[in-house]
Amino acid sequence: MKNIQFVMSFWVLVSFLSFSSACAQSDSSKNDFPMEKSEAEWKEKLSEEQYYVLREKGTEKPYTGKFLFHKEKGVYTCAGCGQKLFDSNSKFDSHCGWPSFDKEISSGKIKTVTDNSLGMSRTEIMCGRCGGHLGHVFNDGPTSTGLRYCVNSLSLSFEKENPSK
Ligand SMILES: [Zn+2]
Repeated sequence: MKNIQFVMSFWVLVSFLSFSSACAQSDSSKNDFPMEKSEAEWKEKLSEEQYYVLREKGTEKPYTGKFLFHKEKGVYTCAGCGQKLFDSNSKFDSHCGWPSFDKEISSGKIKTVTDNSLGMSRTEIMCGRCGGHLGHVFNDGPTSTGLRYCVNSLSLSFEKENPSK
């Protein structure tokens, strides 16, 4: 009988802890970004696929993104809020199935956070302005920065470089 009581109280404790950490997580992710919109506003602004990636941290299928083989000169911006994120000069072909960059366009544009989902420890990258999920950054980049920003095409828009500049 004592055993059952112990198991029950342990279960209550575990449920309480996971409940409170879930609360803490959603609170911190809500308050950290300069641009905040309600989920309804995001749903109106974004396509269903963009919403899945940017707001629900989804991942597009590899080798399907529109910017994977995109080679034009210009600037890649956040599809959620338009903040400039990557210069086309930092894009390289990583053969991983998603557009890859070796650095952000200037420091502070991208926020990183440890992501322990799917049984792996990875570093998630988010737009520093609206908190939209972009992808992950890895330390195995082939260029001098040593970084590989692996980004969903759905998280990005593109502004072509003005040739008259
Ligand atoms: Zn953004």
